[in-house]
Amino acid sequence: MPGTYDAIIIGGGHNGLVTACYLAKAKWKVLVLERRYLVGGACVTEETFPGFKVSTAAYVNSLFRPEIIRDLRLADYGFAVLERNPSSFSPFLDGRHLFLGADQAMNVREISKFSAKDAEAYPKYETMLERIAAVMEPTITQVPANVLRPGLRGLWKIFKLARSMQKLGPGMGEAIEVLTGAARPLLDRWFESEELKATLATDAIIGAFAAPSMPGTAYVLFHHVMGETNGKRGVWSYVKGGMGGLSQALAGAAKDLGVEIRCNAEVAKIIVKDGAAAGVVLATGEEFLAPKVASNVDARLTFTQFMDPRILPPDFAEAIGRISYDSASLKINVALSELPSFSALPGSQPGPQHHGTVHLCPDQDYIERGFDDAKYGMPSREPILECTLPSAVDPSVAPPGKHLMSMFIQYAPYKLKEGNWDDIKDKFADTCFDILNRYAPNFKQSVIARQIVTPLDLERVFNLTGGNIFQGAMTLNQLFMFRPVPGFADYRTPIKGLFLCGSAAHPGGGVMGAAGWNAAREMMRRW
Ligand SMILES: Cc1cc2nc3c(=O)[nH]c(=O)nc-3n(C[C@H](O)[C@H](O)[C@H](O)COP(=O)(O)OP(=O)(O)OC[C@H]3O[C@@H](n4cnc5c(N)ncnc54)[C@H](O)[C@@H]3O)c2cc1C
Repeated sequence: MPGTYDAIIIGGGHNGLVTACYLAKAKWKVLVLERRYLVGGACVTEETFPGFKVSTAAYVNSLFRPEIIRDLRLADYGFAVLERNPSSFSPFLDGRHLFLGADQAMNVREISKFSAKDAEAYPKYETMLERIAAVMEPTITQVPANVLRPGLRGLWKIFKLARSMQKLGPGMGEAIEVLTGAARPLLDRWFESEELKATLATDAIIGAFAAPSMPGTAYVLFHHVMGETNGKRGVWSYVKGGMGGLSQALAGAAKDLGVEIRCNAEVAKIIVKDGAAAGVVLATGEEFLAPKVASNVDARLTFTQFMDPRILPPDFAEAIGRISYDSASLKINVALSELPSFSALPGSQPGPQHHGTVHLCPDQDYIERGFDDAKYGMPSREPILECTLPSAVDPSVAPPGKHLMSMFIQYAPYKLKEGNWDDIKDKFADTCFDILNRYAPNFKQSVIARQIVTPLDLERVFNLTGGNIFQGAMTLNQLFMFRPVPGFADYRTPIKGLFLCGSAAHPGGGVMGAAGWNAAREMMRRW
């Protein structure tokens, strides 16, 4: 007899685990089925190199909802964050450097090294983003209105959002630009120093297949200031022991709440009977039954691989087919014998230059040129590097005296005009290493081992369509009421009892837990 549950969650990503916990808290009998050998999806720690705790994919936290940390008592399950202060370090080849962080006086001091005018503007720019965040942040944990059939509830939600936008007064125009426009004109208007603008612009392209001059990138920039660490807005942290510390804490809470978690359990099919979900079938043929199924997997796979799309309403199936999974992100995890000593601020003992994200990007034109290559299907000849050294803040992730580096790199287009990522990945990684060595000449000699995670690996290992790190591009036509597709942003699908509970749904990518939490509430709501 197949096992029978109240709900089955396909995928044990952090969002799937959050959904499972909230359902189990309401006394539902829940089963989580995870394809890999461990839960966490893109939020995992793995011992890729002996003795090193590598955050294989996601590497910094700020977006994860504090309400969930409290509700599920995640600290009791080992979840802890370590603040990064300063939060960023940008070395330049002329020997100068720029620190940014939560300390506004330091920011002003640092920026004034490049431009007195920008130093004065920066706190005002942050206030502008914070005012927009104050309006937008509550929407993260709200279920967006159904734009196709809003009904009274949907109209009320749209009205409430419009009312809160009104609070921005004359700032509304700029808010709309932040939500829909390009990062570059915004940054060019606010600031004159290319060093500052390049540092900020790198946040506008994370996970995006776009240059900062392209519409939609200002939102990516903004998305990255919506989180907090210990109540401090916009501050990013390391999860103690690597990002998997969060997923393992969620799994611990889930087990204590009675959730059954099975790893190495790849779902092949969702059982649909009379238009309603009835359970799932594993690749091994094993069946599990439940009247409610939530998919933590992206929408394309959920609706084309787990079922015959011909059973779906044609308009919905077409909309799923239109979702963009364009991507150009690649990650290299590196085990080091010592920390990089930057010419702009030498020292291989842990110092402030190693605490935050190290931005290697001289100016915005550099990013534009990098994207020019990518749009023609080539990896950037001069890629943009964002490096983090978690062991400088959390020594537990590396053996004594050793260090760990994560390099998040753009642009590495999934769709190559020529060749295959398996063949070119080492050459591309060498280019990235050469670039870092220009800034920190001891870097290459300190490399013990490296793991290159190409867009193709992101697809193969994490089942992320097109290697898109957010389970679908974060462009306005795929956000809020339009995520995953218009008319289905309320976590429901045309299949009764089938829900989406991962970053394919609102509010999208990032280690937030919000999609999983919102989906659980909708699953428990009576029709
Ligand atoms: C390289 C990289 C770097 C990133 N950096 C950051 C960062 O620093 N900070 C941040 O906030 N966000 C970051 N992100 C984004 C963030 O990690 C993701 O948006 C988030 O982890 C998604 O969580 P999820 O639970 O929605 O989905 P996922 O993590 O994608 O989880 C889906 C789960 O479903 C499982 N699955 C897939 N198919 C099946 C199947 N057939 N049967 C059973 N299980 C299946 C997968 O194995 C996976 O465990 C990064 C992402 C990547 C890839």
